[in-house]
Amino acid sequence: MTIAFPEKFVAGVVAHINEDHRREMLDLAHGLAGQNWASEASLLHADKHGLDLLLHAADREERLRVTFDEPLERPNQFRPALIALIQRARQALPDSAATSSRRSIELSDALYNYLHAVSLREPEVLQQLRAETARNPEGRMQVGPEQGQFMALLLQLIGAQRTIEIGVFTGYSTLWTALALPANGRIVACDVNAEWTSIGQRYWAEAGVAHKIDLCLAPAAETLAALLADNQAGQFDFAFIDADKASYDEYYEQCLQLLRPGGLIAIDNVLWGGAVADETQQDADTRALRALNAKLHSDDRIDISMLPVGDGLTLARKRLGA
Ligand code: SAM
Ligand code: CA
Repeated sequence: MTIAFPEKFVAGVVAHINEDHRREMLDLAHGLAGQNWASEASLLHADKHGLDLLLHAADREERLRVTFDEPLERPNQFRPALIALIQRARQALPDSAATSSRRSIELSDALYNYLHAVSLREPEVLQQLRAETARNPEGRMQVGPEQGQFMALLLQLIGAQRTIEIGVFTGYSTLWTALALPANGRIVACDVNAEWTSIGQRYWAEAGVAHKIDLCLAPAAETLAALLADNQAGQFDFAFIDADKASYDEYYEQCLQLLRPGGLIAIDNVLWGGAVADETQQDADTRALRALNAKLHSDDRIDISMLPVGDGLTLARKRLGA
């Protein structure tokens, strides 16, 4: 005979689930479901044999039934049985941080500040440019300082000398690049906005790197086409694509020709605030990014890695035979 706990008891258990408990239930749900998509779990129902959890993700929900080792005979066995379930689920996982072991950690403000405090080496001129950009109504378009520093490290790793920047804005990512390049380094910097880029030009001069930057105020596809027409294919080490999203595919194809084998393309905003994974989002920019992401996945001209840095950053290395 199945004895369900009285509804009042279940309601009481649900009401007493505090934040710690909720996190444990989420661990439990992740561990038992063997999936990492659930962002929340709530308890729907409990009876002597187990629990019904509801797992929530951004766009879906799923019920999960978990059973106790032995049927409970008294309501006061509920809590120890729940703890035993959680322990069992944790043992099955590589570590107790079920979510962080399998996907990138979520950055709270405190953790983001900590990351900056222990790793950022942003030169003062870049700090000043970032502060000025933050006062611009479009300031959110600028990459974060940790991303700028990461790309500077990449440039040093591949020994870059000639690079392409598609989308300059106030010149922040361009300045990180210019500072990372050797004295003979050169950047072809593409943008269409003279007002924003003039802010960058002031800081490039202040940093003593203006001579490395060739600012081309024209639609980027035209600038890149002109480089190709000028026999510059295979002459560049690195390209950063961060302008109008609808043209990303065209920029990618042009950059792939302009890069040397082993050269690197970094493509920004590939996660697009999460919209790429949300099928209800069908605007032109989201569709363009989604299509490009799918294309790159199976493009055998490149090696790729999509990183959850900033708004998503894909690194694509041109293969030696490509
Ligand atoms: N990389 C910059 C940074 O991190 O500071 C941010 C670039 S912002 C996201 C995009 C830039 O692309 C804007 O400055 C915009 O004027 C430029 N842009 C838009 N359409 C363009 C086009 N067709 N050709 C070149 N640049 C374009
Ligand atoms: Ca961007």
